[in-house]
Amino acid sequence: MADLFAQVVFPIPLKQTFSYRVPEALKSAVAPGMRCFLSFGHRQTVGFITSVTSKAPENVKQLKAIDSLLDTQPALTPDLLKLGEWIAEYYYCSLGEALFAILPAGQRKNPKSVLELTSEGLAHIEKVETLLGEVGPLRGVNWKSLKKGTVAVTPRTLALAEALKAAGLGQIVVAGKKPESTGGEKLILGKPTQPPQLHAQQESAFNAIHQALDEGVFKTFLLQGVTGSGKTEVYLRTIAETLKKGKQAIVLIPEIALTPQTVDRFTGRFGDQVAVLHSRLDPEERAIHWNRLATGKAKVAVGARSALFAPVPKLGLIVVDEEHESSYKQDDTPRYNARDAAVKRAQLCGAVALLGSATPSLESIKNARDGKYGFLSMPDRVNQRPLPRVRVVDLKEEWVVRGEDRPVLSMALAQAIRENLEKNEQTILFLNRRGFNTATLCLKCGEQVQCPNCSVPVTSHRVRGVIELLCHYCDWKGPVPVKCPQCKDGQVRQVGLGTERLEEEIKTQFPNARVERMDLDTTQEKGSHEEILGRFRRHAVDILLGTQMIAKGHDFPGVTLVGIVGADTGLALPDFRSSEKVFQLLVQVSGRAGRAEKEGVIYLQTFHPDHSSVRSAATHDMNGFWQQELELREALGYPPYSRLGLLVYRSEDEKKAYTGAEKAAVVLEKLARPLGVEVRGPALAGLFKLRGHFRFQILLKAAKPQAIRQLIQKLDEQFETPKGVFRVVDIDPQSML
Ligand code: ADP
Ligand code: ZN
Repeated sequence: MADLFAQVVFPIPLKQTFSYRVPEALKSAVAPGMRCFLSFGHRQTVGFITSVTSKAPENVKQLKAIDSLLDTQPALTPDLLKLGEWIAEYYYCSLGEALFAILPAGQRKNPKSVLELTSEGLAHIEKVETLLGEVGPLRGVNWKSLKKGTVAVTPRTLALAEALKAAGLGQIVVAGKKPESTGGEKLILGKPTQPPQLHAQQESAFNAIHQALDEGVFKTFLLQGVTGSGKTEVYLRTIAETLKKGKQAIVLIPEIALTPQTVDRFTGRFGDQVAVLHSRLDPEERAIHWNRLATGKAKVAVGARSALFAPVPKLGLIVVDEEHESSYKQDDTPRYNARDAAVKRAQLCGAVALLGSATPSLESIKNARDGKYGFLSMPDRVNQRPLPRVRVVDLKEEWVVRGEDRPVLSMALAQAIRENLEKNEQTILFLNRRGFNTATLCLKCGEQVQCPNCSVPVTSHRVRGVIELLCHYCDWKGPVPVKCPQCKDGQVRQVGLGTERLEEEIKTQFPNARVERMDLDTTQEKGSHEEILGRFRRHAVDILLGTQMIAKGHDFPGVTLVGIVGADTGLALPDFRSSEKVFQLLVQVSGRAGRAEKEGVIYLQTFHPDHSSVRSAATHDMNGFWQQELELREALGYPPYSRLGLLVYRSEDEKKAYTGAEKAAVVLEKLARPLGVEVRGPALAGLFKLRGHFRFQILLKAAKPQAIRQLIQKLDEQFETPKGVFRVVDIDPQSML
């Protein structure tokens, strides 16, 4: 056969493809989209084949050959390959980084490779010995096992392996490759449900989506429906419609462990046609689901962010539930937003993208207003149930009235909890700070005790009866200091309410109530979310308290009271989205009450009763909030009225990080004007020190995202980030910290 060459990429920041020779034996099997195993630099590693050609590249003489193929079928469908190209370009990373992020986790890692002697090698051991001598001292080689036929390839023995291969005496193969599973795994399914009669608002939303599915062309919808308006039912109907057409659907939900009940609703309706892609699946389990989807045995993929990359060959619909959630943004390279990438994938497949939320992001609201997305609205709850009444409690007044002692619960909220317990109804208490106390303060110098590795105050936690300090960013732990570490003189005091202390206070005030706490600390074990939520659902728990984990998505019919113990967390963050995020969270928490026959009521404790986020959430005034916030964003030129890119320069050496950022900014300033990009910074990042790294950031602002990418491209042509400094590119950043 004629010579064949493969273009291969790797999960490294280098924006380059590498040519390899395709050996005779693999010529008929090789195809773009397959993973291969080969030597790259000084190691054996997994590469991804992006194209195969018969045209010899210039450096053909120096080309190495691919050792083996890891797939018999392309690992990625053509649309996923294209999506990878889009992610690489849009989010400014290498194609290898993008494609390896699309591959399921289990397929990214290096399989173990072994050197096997060929029959020629086994027959002529003396030739092998001679070669071994020529290659030089090889302490890493287990000579005995090589003589028997195989030895593991390590970076040290790679030279020998290559030499033996060239001489036809050996070959490199992948060890222990498991045969592909055929399925037969155990599925846990939700209770089968009958579709209810759609109410009028659901009906008209459904009809619009149905029509787009009939037309079979790409279209994006934003479904804005208040909490309890029946959005999930609309998803279920549109999926059913998609399946009728012989197509497949993907459903993205923000955090799958947190919403087992939502997942049950999909499996309840579609049975084993659903593949649930939990983040806690091990690679084999994941591979089984992947396989069922790829072969069309499963038709609906339900999962968090990475389920977007489910290998469905006949995509008809992608649903993104709670489209505003920041967990859709990946916080490592490639920093893609699964919501936006979902719209892109739908476009590549001629599919429908359905974004749903009670509190859509302002980006999506604007896209809907501009006519880019079809806008579907469900302003009423199912069965004309009213939205819960919200009572705002001003904590400033409460403190004045009650003097020095700072109560956790206002009198009004405490009374409401008492009455709810007497009626045997359930209560949710929300406080978005985990830990016992949220800060340790010096009574003399007034400074807060900070983490040694991060510029953030440490939280105190009670671990087996003892209070310890913990950093929520780097997991640093330490004892409570006797004297202030800053001034080395003052006494320290624990301040700020966290969920652990809230739990203790509630148990003291309501000794007969069954109280449970749900936050990161009580949900470390696999299955613990489901257990806590299950007990609450069965009414084995009267009061569930916790962080944002309990705020979202849950449908507990027995909850009639929600107490927002502290509404203000997050309001003071130096991020232009802080009002939006607080508003979304308050609306979501409030939405947990009064979802069944009985009415719900919310007590919202705040120091800022006049803040627009608090006021709008209390009056369910979505339009008012959007309008005001959009006007503010427009005036300040922030998204959705502009696009942002964030460059973060970090280093363990503060000066190096600063110099790197400073020099980059000078180059950027020179290049920015003709491209219409505004350059701001360098400035200290909101989290100036994080895990021992000092961080400086440069903000890039433009009307179009292309201009930002072009600018970074030009920067990279003219300026190299200094050694010892890492640079991170974040396009459309979700967090400015
Ligand atoms: P959302 O996702 O908008 O918060 P859900 O889809 O969870 O709302 O719906 C709220 C509740 O109303 C659920 O218990 C659901 O089963 C029920 N429901 C939804 N649509 C209907 C309908 N058309 N008729 C009766 N009950 C419905
Ligand atoms: Zn830390």
